[in-house]
Amino acid sequence: MRHIAIIGSGPAGYYTAEAAQKQWGEDVRVDIFDLLPVPYGLIRTGVAPDHQSIKGVSRRYESTAQLDNVRFVGNVTVGEDITIAELQGLYDAVVLATGAPNDKPAGIPGEGLENVFGSAAFVGWYNGHPQFAKLNPDLTGRTAVVIGNGNVALDVARILTKTAAEFTGSDIVAHALHALQKSHIERVVILGRRGPHQIAMTPKELGELAHLTRGCPRVDPADLPDVEEDLFLEPGQRKSVEHLRSFAAIPEEFRCDKPVEIDFDFFASPKAIVGDGRVSGIEIERTVLDENGRASGTGESYTIDCELVVTCIGYKTSPIPGVPFEENAGRFANDEGRILPGLYCVGWARRGPSGTIGTNRPDGFGVIEKIAEDIGVGSGKAGRPGFDRLAEERKLDVVTFRDWKKIEEAEEARAREGAPREKFTDVDEMIKAASKP
Ligand code: NAP
Repeated sequence: MRHIAIIGSGPAGYYTAEAAQKQWGEDVRVDIFDLLPVPYGLIRTGVAPDHQSIKGVSRRYESTAQLDNVRFVGNVTVGEDITIAELQGLYDAVVLATGAPNDKPAGIPGEGLENVFGSAAFVGWYNGHPQFAKLNPDLTGRTAVVIGNGNVALDVARILTKTAAEFTGSDIVAHALHALQKSHIERVVILGRRGPHQIAMTPKELGELAHLTRGCPRVDPADLPDVEEDLFLEPGQRKSVEHLRSFAAIPEEFRCDKPVEIDFDFFASPKAIVGDGRVSGIEIERTVLDENGRASGTGESYTIDCELVVTCIGYKTSPIPGVPFEENAGRFANDEGRILPGLYCVGWARRGPSGTIGTNRPDGFGVIEKIAEDIGVGSGKAGRPGFDRLAEERKLDVVTFRDWKKIEEAEEARAREGAPREKFTDVDEMIKAASKP
């Protein structure tokens, strides 16, 4: 029997469990650990609440979770409740599917000012992550600046702009919905340090900005390269740039009907966030692209007055003491998922924070191939029963998949009209719901 521990119950974790099951069928036992009492990681707390069709992928994970040889072990913090070394003693393979939960710092002065947030925190706030549910961003200012030209920047800009009616059918948490309904924001500036051809925004997500009730995207036509240059882009990127071109062509009279401006500010590198205790502006330096496509400063600078800043510039994995880590790439040092025989990583913990949810599937299957090479038929480790003994000794309050289904049921029962669920944002509330008979 092979015993595998997966740490993290997001897409990377569940695809790895699925791959293990496909590889070994009944001859494997997989335990998926999560520090929260609820599964699915970024699907629950990262994917935007108004993107329910993307969140629907969790149904696939649920069918894996309900296999007899796959088990969800929630509410267990690896590193506190049990160490990696202990898990390695119990399981033939330990797979880190811990994602990249920390914001990459912008490395500029003023990041610590009030009302400046990283996207992990801000997205966690509107998605009800217990760690960030009490973030309480102040939305009473007029201008928000979103730093970054990726899909997370688009998510944040869109969420800041939507009306309550546009959240119908979403699972945005009540505290965020209420705060957004009272928001005074009239301008969301999306800062890109490079140009329209260098955006990391996908066409579908970019296209959504054209259909907002209150928001209207604005692109300065002068920032767009000659249209012939679009021919050199790969098709997806060309489509994204076509959206930017269509935003640049929106007539002013149409814009006037929409109270929130979503301004794309390209070739704009943030240099400092300023304010007296609380953010009141951001200093920007104009850039040009060098021959390698990198942004270099021109010396020309300006300030945007703003009362909220959200940095959406990527994430980093949490290092684990004793596990080799590549600081610059923000991921564990690994060779195609193998950190060392017996210890592996998948998803963002392996690759860094890029790619779609689906990118994790080949990752999971790839790492199972490595594990198969390393562990053979298993080495007689204690596996599940061993962990259960340890959990009992330490009085760990483990949340099972069945318990999670009770939490889910309670969240569905308390949903506002039209919403799929109202998430619990507090771990104790989750545990209470899980303990109901
Ligand atoms: P991302 O796609 O890597 O984009 C990060 C952006 O931040 C880039 O535009 C980058 O510009 C910019 N940036 C980085 N450091 C900066 C700095 N110091 N100053 C200014 N700008 C800086 O990251 P993400 O938006 O966090 O998304 C993470 C992953 O999740 C991506 O693969 C994304 O596609 C995926 N995602 C998908 C969806 C969806 O499909 N709906 C939604 C959300 C996220 P440079 O290019 O110049 O480095």
